[in-house]
Amino acid sequence: MIPYKHEPFTDFSIEENRTKLQEGLKTVKSYLGKDYPLIIGGERIMTDEKKESYNPAEKTETIGHMSQAGQEHAQQAMDVALETFESWRKSTFEFRSDVLFKAAAIIRKRKFEFTALLVKEAGKPWKEADADTAEAIDFLEYYGRNNLKIKDGDHVESRPGEYNQFHYIPLGVGLVISPWNFAFAIMAGTTAAALVTGNTVLLKPSSRTPVVAYKFMEVLEEAGMPKGAVNFIPGSSRDIGDYLVEHKDTRFVSFTGSRDVGTRIYEKAAIVQDGQTHLKRVIAEMGGKDTIVVDSDADLELAAEAITYSAFGFSGQKCSACSRVIALEDIHDELLAKVVEKTKQLKVGNPEADVNVGPVIDDASLEKIQKYIEIGKSEGKLETGGTTENDTGHFVHPTIFSGLRHDDRIMQEEVFGPVVGFATAKDFDQAIEYANATDYGLTGAVITQNREHIEQARRDFMVGNLYFNRGCTAAIVGYQPFGGFKMSGTDSKAGGPDYLTLHMQGKTSSEQM
Ligand code: GLU
Repeated sequence: MIPYKHEPFTDFSIEENRTKLQEGLKTVKSYLGKDYPLIIGGERIMTDEKKESYNPAEKTETIGHMSQAGQEHAQQAMDVALETFESWRKSTFEFRSDVLFKAAAIIRKRKFEFTALLVKEAGKPWKEADADTAEAIDFLEYYGRNNLKIKDGDHVESRPGEYNQFHYIPLGVGLVISPWNFAFAIMAGTTAAALVTGNTVLLKPSSRTPVVAYKFMEVLEEAGMPKGAVNFIPGSSRDIGDYLVEHKDTRFVSFTGSRDVGTRIYEKAAIVQDGQTHLKRVIAEMGGKDTIVVDSDADLELAAEAITYSAFGFSGQKCSACSRVIALEDIHDELLAKVVEKTKQLKVGNPEADVNVGPVIDDASLEKIQKYIEIGKSEGKLETGGTTENDTGHFVHPTIFSGLRHDDRIMQEEVFGPVVGFATAKDFDQAIEYANATDYGLTGAVITQNREHIEQARRDFMVGNLYFNRGCTAAIVGYQPFGGFKMSGTDSKAGGPDYLTLHMQGKTSSEQM
């Protein structure tokens, strides 16, 4: 087998690639506005109640109308998943990995179509949409390979006269609740990890980006996934999310989304229901309040580049996004000036044109960001941005606040939008102390040339993904396993070597000879 290597990013300065993206956009246009069914046991079920998925950059453009599952569908999907588990759990590791490899190959062939769909359904600029598609491919290739590595279990010793074995077996039915911000990559990655390890899956994609998830279901089917192994049930948390999290037969929940919802799932899943014969496992990837620390001797050009991209790439709608800068006093003013200058050059607009910053996902998100902009104005000085447009689409101009304290609200609470705050520290010890002073612990970066400071941060900066002399977003599957400490989640490292076994249980067998 060819060793794993991440999917290369597309260079959109090449004319041919721009043309291919335009063709992808045409393909997507040809199927805009359709009605989509649930998929349970391979059966298409069109429901009366549908939810519109629309283009956040052009609100009047409908991507599709998605059928909504109610509790009876959720129960039907559970029944099918329980039944299918009995055969799927006995399938070979090779067969299951093969489904992932074939799915990756199909997506690679339709890469520009998927990227174009993300441009329209999630409002991602080309570069971001391309990275999302590439990451989906990476998860399939990486988990497919990792699954083959764990197939024989781990070596355990045997004494004379006994034969010991240690294997990983699947858990059962898993509920996957996926987000809109990596509508393809995280949806496909969390589904694939649960599936390839022999579990059956109930997939509840984000209600903002269900069409790309439906397209992924079609890819899995084409790749040979048996009916009922993944069941596609878009629906609201209130109607089916809670029902399935609390369901006695749900064996694990794999959730990516907000801290509020994640902690609620964690609590609900802990309660043992009547007739439940196991403790549920929760894999949760939640929020972030991610800091870039800039040291006195830092390359300020590099620091400004790293901050600008990490804060405003995909409008700051990444849990890894930089929303706090802690700069050493002596370089603060020069750094801030550079970041403000770079930010002012960013092109904001509909990502169908090649812009740097697209829309935010919906009205609620825009309102929340506006609220934080007001908080920022009251706590610090607005350097640039601070304005929004909500006519054709939901746009927020990249926003910078300075003169903040590290414990101001705008420096503590997750905004999930293109807003970054600057505060100062008098020395490096204090910078790390301030960087750590949030509830979250997902990503962080330190820009420095000081070797001792690098080692100090490696030891003391409490984040799951720590980067030096680069930005704090854009972890690559298999290279930078991704997941956070503290209130950022269960430190389940997506795209890492131990991720798959979180979906499995270890079984020891010992035979007397
Ligand atoms: N893995 C992504 C990154 O490294 C972030 C994922 C997320 O926002 O949920 O930027």
